[in-house]
Amino acid sequence: MDLGLVRFIDFHTHLHLYDHPNEALKSIKKNKILTVANSNDLESYRDTCEMAKRNPLIIPTFGVHPQLASEYSGKTGLLKFALQKTPIIGEIGLDYYWVQDVAKEVQMEVFEFIIKEAVEQGKYCIIHTKGAEKEVYKILKQYGANKVIIHWYSGPLDIYKKMIEEGYYFTFGCEVRYSKKIQKLLNLTPTTQLLAETDNPVGEEWLGGSTHDPDLIKRVLQDISYFLNKDRGEVESIIFNNSREILQNAGVL
Ligand SMILES: [Zn+2]
Repeated sequence: MDLGLVRFIDFHTHLHLYDHPNEALKSIKKNKILTVANSNDLESYRDTCEMAKRNPLIIPTFGVHPQLASEYSGKTGLLKFALQKTPIIGEIGLDYYWVQDVAKEVQMEVFEFIIKEAVEQGKYCIIHTKGAEKEVYKILKQYGANKVIIHWYSGPLDIYKKMIEEGYYFTFGCEVRYSKKIQKLLNLTPTTQLLAETDNPVGEEWLGGSTHDPDLIKRVLQDISYFLNKDRGEVESIIFNNSREILQNAGVL
C-alpha cells in the first residue's frame, strides 16, 4: 500500500453491513480513505475479504461481535484459521448493555478465547466494551494484552483512566458532536492514543443522523479538532500518524 494514495484513515467500519457496498467503495476510493473494515463473524469476514480483493484501501479484520458469540460457543476452534489470517482482530468484545439475548458466559467464553489467541500472536484487537467496561479491562490485564484499540468508549470514567494508563488506543467517532460525555473523554485522552472512526454504516444513523457515506470520516476529524480546540490539520496528522504506526506494526503497511 502506497501511503501517498491515502488521505484519511477510518479505524472502524463494517463494510459488510452496507446495502450497496459498491457505492461505499467508490467514495472510499474518491476520498482516499484507508479503511479498517471490521467483521462480526466468519461470514462477514469472508465478504469483507472479497471486497478487499478489488480495493487496496480496504483492510479486512476478523472478529466475533458479542451479539454473535453464541454462533461459536463450544466451537471456538472454528475461529483459529481466521484469527491466524487476519492482521488485526476486530470487532470483538463484550456487551452487557445492548446485547441481552446472549448470555454473559457465552460472550465471555468467545472473547477470552480470542484475547488469548491475540496475545499469543501479538496482534492488535479492536474492542467493544458497552456496559462491560470493567470486565473487558479485567480480561485484558489478566492475559497481558497491550495491543488494544478501544472502540467508541462510553463507560465509567475510572476504568477509562486506567485504560489510558495502560496505553490503549481509543477511536472517537460520530458521537463526538452530540455528547458532552464523549467530549470529556476525548479531552482526557492523550493525543498519542487517539484514533478516528465512523462505525459506518450504522454509527451516525444510530445517533439519528442520515448519512453513512465513508466521507463522514472528514466530519469526525473536524469535530475532534473542534472539541479539542486544536488546529484541524494538526489533529488530522496526529491521528493519521497514530493509525499508520499501528498498521505498520501490524504488518499491513
Ligand atoms: Zn462496530
